[in-house]
Amino acid sequence: MEKSMEPKKTPGIDYGGLIRQAFEARQSAYAPYSNFLVGAALLTAAGVVYTGCNIENAAFTPTNCAERTAFFKAISEGRQQFSAIAVVGGSRKTGPADFDYVFPCGVCRQIMAEFCGRDFEIIMAKSPEDYKVFLFPQLLPQAFGPGDLQGETERQDKEPAKSAAEAAAAAAAEAMTKQ
Ligand SMILES: [Zn+2]
Repeated sequence: MEKSMEPKKTPGIDYGGLIRQAFEARQSAYAPYSNFLVGAALLTAAGVVYTGCNIENAAFTPTNCAERTAFFKAISEGRQQFSAIAVVGGSRKTGPADFDYVFPCGVCRQIMAEFCGRDFEIIMAKSPEDYKVFLFPQLLPQAFGPGDLQGETERQDKEPAKSAAEAAAAAAAEAMTKQ
């Protein structure tokens, strides 16, 4: 586990308020299989908050995390610039007093890699007063993101890959000149 940072204070981010909204969203969690209820509150750069909860499924693989629910709600409404996300979670059987910090899973971190900059903040909270803040690169260093494919696209634009037919024609032409 990486060393946590001191909770930082970015002007414009109401950490306690965002955490409270994550706790509220947690109440909608549908987690009859794990009984582990998670809530998230995602703050856009424009200051709008989208919340999410985990949504499990009897077939297991369709299960969606709270963080991704929040991201997909926001993105589906035209938001693609994000500042921070607060995440809270814990078993149905224990009270918030026993909550631990809940870190986003790898799949949710990959969603962040798609849409979030290096200054995106992830807030893991036990309560509105007790939380840790990480910057995105701390949770997913060396991330594979849109920039990796951007470079590939540019290369292809400059030097289009040969089709199989073109390659065969070129090889035939080369063979002809050698004869
Ligand atoms: Zn996740």
